[in-house]
Amino acid sequence: MPTLPVLKIALPVPLYKYFEYRAPLGTAFDNIQVGVRVRVPFGKRILTGIVVEKCPKSSLAPDKLKTVQEILDTKPVFDPVLKKLLFWVARYYQQPTGEVLNAALPKALRKQKHIRTASKAIYRACTKKAIGQLLDRAPKQRQVFELIKAHPAGLTADEITAHMSHWHPFVHALIDKNLVQKTTCSKVSAKPPRAVAESLTLTQEQRHAFEQVHRSIRQFGVYLLAGVTGSGKTEVYLALAKDVIARGKQVLMLVPEIGLTPQLVQRIESRLNIQVALMHSDLSTGEGAQTWLQANTGQASVVVGTRSAIFLPFRNLGLIVVDEEHDLSFKQQEGILYSARDVAVYRAKQLSIPIVLGSATPSLESQHNAILGHYRNVTLSKRAKLAKIPQVKLIDLRSKHAIDGLSSELLQAIETELKQKHQVLLFLNRRGFAPVLLCHDCAWTAECARCDSHMVFYKGQDIIKCHHCQKQEKAPVACPQCGSENLIFLGEGTQRIENRLKKIFPDTAMIRIDRDSTRKKHTLQDKLEEVRQGKHQIIIGTQMLAKGHDFPNVTLVGILNVDHGLLSSDFRASERLAQLIVQVSGRAGRSAKKGRVLLQTHQPEHPLLNRLLTHGYQDFSKEVLRQRERCVLPPFSFMLLVRARAHQQDLTYRFLREIKSSMLPSGSSGLNLFGPIPASLERKAGMYQSQLVAIATSRKAIQARLPNWTTVIQQHPLAKRVRWNIEVDPLETA
Ligand code: ADP
Ligand code: ZN
Ligand code: ZN
Repeated sequence: MPTLPVLKIALPVPLYKYFEYRAPLGTAFDNIQVGVRVRVPFGKRILTGIVVEKCPKSSLAPDKLKTVQEILDTKPVFDPVLKKLLFWVARYYQQPTGEVLNAALPKALRKQKHIRTASKAIYRACTKKAIGQLLDRAPKQRQVFELIKAHPAGLTADEITAHMSHWHPFVHALIDKNLVQKTTCSKVSAKPPRAVAESLTLTQEQRHAFEQVHRSIRQFGVYLLAGVTGSGKTEVYLALAKDVIARGKQVLMLVPEIGLTPQLVQRIESRLNIQVALMHSDLSTGEGAQTWLQANTGQASVVVGTRSAIFLPFRNLGLIVVDEEHDLSFKQQEGILYSARDVAVYRAKQLSIPIVLGSATPSLESQHNAILGHYRNVTLSKRAKLAKIPQVKLIDLRSKHAIDGLSSELLQAIETELKQKHQVLLFLNRRGFAPVLLCHDCAWTAECARCDSHMVFYKGQDIIKCHHCQKQEKAPVACPQCGSENLIFLGEGTQRIENRLKKIFPDTAMIRIDRDSTRKKHTLQDKLEEVRQGKHQIIIGTQMLAKGHDFPNVTLVGILNVDHGLLSSDFRASERLAQLIVQVSGRAGRSAKKGRVLLQTHQPEHPLLNRLLTHGYQDFSKEVLRQRERCVLPPFSFMLLVRARAHQQDLTYRFLREIKSSMLPSGSSGLNLFGPIPASLERKAGMYQSQLVAIATSRKAIQARLPNWTTVIQQHPLAKRVRWNIEVDPLETA
C-alpha cells in the first residue's frame, strides 16, 4: 500500500501529540510551508491548527487519513524567534504544543483567514486653497468647514457628530470643492491626543535606579526593582520606556490585572505622548486583533497587557517591564499552565533586551535569583513624595469586645479620620455577609452539596452561595436538621462590615469593592475612579484593593482579619500574607497627609508577623528564605504537581498511585515523589481532586524526565477516565 506525504499538525486539544493530515487536493505539497495555519476536520468539529512538520510518509493507512480543509496562510504565522519561545514554553511547562500555539494566536486568527487594520476616516481642511466667496451661499458648508479648520490634526466622523448632526452631505460638498480632504487613519481607536504632561524630575534614588538599567539598555539583564509602595517605580519605567521608544523600539508592560490599567495607561499616554495598545481577556475579538497587528507592524510603541501579552509578535521589542512581579495572576491557573513572568525573562534573554521586575514585595523566587546573581538588585527605599511609609500597629483581638469583627479601637480611629474629612480603607479578604450559617441548637452548618466547603450567607437577597462552584439557593429560615429557627451567622464578610458601619456612621458615604459588587464590565474601574474623586469616605474591600491603586486621601487602613492566612497549610502562605499586608498598608498616607495602619489579629505574638512589622519585608523575606532552605522547599528545590480530578474519589488515588510507580526513577537521587494526597479542597463542584508532588534539588532532574512522564501518564488506561494536568513551578500547592 503506498504511503502518502502528510502534514503533521498541532491542534488546540489537550493531547501531547501531533495529527497527520493529507494536503488539500490541488495544492502542491512542496508549496506548503511549515508554520502556516490550516483548517482541519477533527471529530465532529473543524479546528484551526498549525503545520509543524512535513513528512514524506504517513504512519497511518491512507484510508485512515483525513484531508486538510483549507490552508489559511502562505507564510508562517509566527516568526522563528517567537516560534522558538512557544516551543520552549510547551516543553518547559509540558503543555500540549497545539494549545500553546493556539494561546498565542489572537482570537480573530483562530477563525478567520486575515485580520485587517481597522481604519477610520479623518477629515482635514485644505488651508492652502483660498475660499474666497466659494461658501458665501452655503452657510451650512461654511459652518462645517470652520469646525474642521479649527482642528488642524483633523476630525473623525464621531468628533464632527459631537458638534453637529446631519453633516455628511455638506462635508462631501466640501470634498468636491477640494476644501476638505478625507484620509484614513489606521488606528482603530484613534483618540484625540491627551494633554501632554511634563516629565517629573526623578529623585536621586530614581535617577540611580534608572541609570543602573540604562547603562546596559541594549543587552539582556534582569533587574529586580524592589521599591517600597509609592516610591515611584512607574516613573522609572517611564523614563526607561521614553529612551527605548526614542530609539524606535517597543516596550511591553505586563500588569497582573486589567483593573490596574486605566490609570497606568493614562499616565503613559500623557507622559510619552503616544497611544498605548492594550492586551487582556476582556478585549473584543476585533480589539485584540488590532493590538496583535500593531505589535507586529511596530505601530504600537507601548503595549500594556496581562499574561498572554507575552506572546504578542513584537516587531522590535526593546524592553519588558513586569509590574507587581510577585502577583499570582502572572501564573495562569487554567488552560495552559505557565508563568508569564518567567516566560518574559526567557523572552528578554532571547531578544538580548533588559527586563525590569518591579514590586514593593518581590517574590522569594526573584529575591533568591538576585542573591544568586542571576538578577540585579535595584532598590527604591523611600517614597517619592514627602509621605512616609506608615507604621503598622497591631490590635490584639483576644478577649476584646468586637462587634461584627470591628474592635472599638479601630472604630475610634475611623471616627477620628472621618471628622477630618479623610478617607478610610478597610480590608477583609472575604465576600458576602457571613462565611458560615450555623444552627445554634444542633450545630448544623450550611454546606455545599458539591464541595467541601461552607455556603456563604448573603443578607438582603437572603441566599447562601458556594464560592467554589457558584451554586446558590435560598437561605433556610429553619434548621433543616432539627427545625430550630435559631440560626446564627458566624464570622464576617465585607457585606457584614458595610452593614455595621452604615449603622454606626449613617451619614458617611461608603463603598464596597469586591467581586460581588464589581461583576459587570467597567464597574471596578468606575468605582475606583469614584474613590479617587473622593465620593466615598469609607472604602471596604477585598484584595482587589491591595494592588497598586493610588488613593491620595486615604489616611487610615484597617486590616480586619488575616488570621486564616497564618493558619494555612500552603508553605507559601506566610509569603502571600506578608505581601498582602505590605501592599494594603501601602495604600495609606500616599500624599502629604500622614497615614496609619491598624491590623486586628488574634495572634499578635506570631513570630513571622512580628518580624514583618518590626523589621520590614526584606528582613522577613530573609528569614522565610532560611526556613525554606532548611526544608529544601522552593526556591531551594524545584517542584511539579500532577493533579487528577474525577467523580469517584478512589479513581484519582488509583490513577496517581499507578503512574507514580512508573514515574519513579530507578536509582536516581535528588528527586522525590510524594502522594497521592488530597487537594486542600478535595471535593469541588462534585469532583474529587488529589495530587502527586515531585520535588527535585535540580531543575534538570525534573526537566530531563518530564517528556517521558507525560507519555507514561497519557498512555495509562485510566488517563481517559480522570482529568489530569501537570503543573511545573506551581505557586499554589495546598
Ligand atoms: P509606585 O509605582 O512605586 O507605587 P508611583 O510611580 O505610582 O509609585 O509614584 C507614587 C506617587 O509619587 C505618584 O503620585 C507619583 O506621581 C509621585 N512621584 C513619583 N516620582 C516622583 C518624582 N520624581 N517627583 C514627584 N512626584 C513623584
Ligand atoms: Zn439545628
Ligand atoms: Zn460548591
